[in-house]
Amino acid sequence: MNEMPVEQSQGLLMIVSAPSGAGKTSICREILQMFPNVRFSVSCTTRSPRPGETDGKDYDFISTEEFRERIARGEFVEWVENYGQLYGTSKKAMNAFLKQGYDLILDVEPRGAKAIREQCPQGVLIFILPPSLSELKSRLSRRGENGAVMEHRLQSSLDEIREALWYDYIIFNDSLEDAVDRFRAVYIAERSRRDRFTERIEAFFKDESH
Ligand code: 5GP
Repeated sequence: MNEMPVEQSQGLLMIVSAPSGAGKTSICREILQMFPNVRFSVSCTTRSPRPGETDGKDYDFISTEEFRERIARGEFVEWVENYGQLYGTSKKAMNAFLKQGYDLILDVEPRGAKAIREQCPQGVLIFILPPSLSELKSRLSRRGENGAVMEHRLQSSLDEIREALWYDYIIFNDSLEDAVDRFRAVYIAERSRRDRFTERIEAFFKDESH
C-alpha cells in the first residue's frame, strides 16, 4: 500500500491534534500567517464543507467513492473513519511541500498522529486543550449542535483528550494570544535543534572566505 514513501527532508512536521472546540483552527491560522515557511497540509475528507470552508484550502472535499479509490491506490499516509466520515492525509500533497523545503502543520486526530509519527519519527506532536471541561462544554454548545450530537461530541472529545498523554507538547488554550505564543515557541525551539544544523555547521568550518 505504501509504494510512495513520505519525503525525507529537512522540513519539520508539526502534527497537531485537539478536541473540537479547543481553538486549534484559530491558533494554526495565526501561526501560518506569522511564518511564511509553514504550510498547512490539506487533508481529504468525505464530509461536506461547513459554511466558510473552502475546497482545496481547508480540505479537499471528495466523494466516498473517490476516497476509497485513493485508499486502494495507496495515496494516503494515513486515513481514518471519524464521525462516520473518512479523513486522510495525502502523500502527494505532503511531499510537494516538503520537497520545496516548507515546514508543515498536519491537523489530524490521534490515530492519524500515531500513524504519521511511525512513518516520520522526527515529527513533533502537539496537543491543544481547552482551558477546562466546562469551557469545552460551553464552546461545543455555542456551535449549535443538538443535544444528542453535542453529547456524542463531548464523549469523543474526552476520549481524545486522554490521548494527549503521549504527545510531545501540550498547549492549553487559556487565551488565544498565549496559546499562539506557546505554539510559536515550540516551533522555534524545534527548528533550533542541533540535528537540524549538521550540514550548516560542517559548512561553517569549511568556509575559508573569511
Ligand atoms: P472536522 O470534521 O471537525 O474538520 O475534523 C474532525 C476531526 O478529523 C478532527 O479531529 C481533525 O483533526 C481530524 N482530521 C482532519 N483531517 C484528518 C486527516 O487527514 N487524518 C486524520 N487522521 N484525521 C483528520
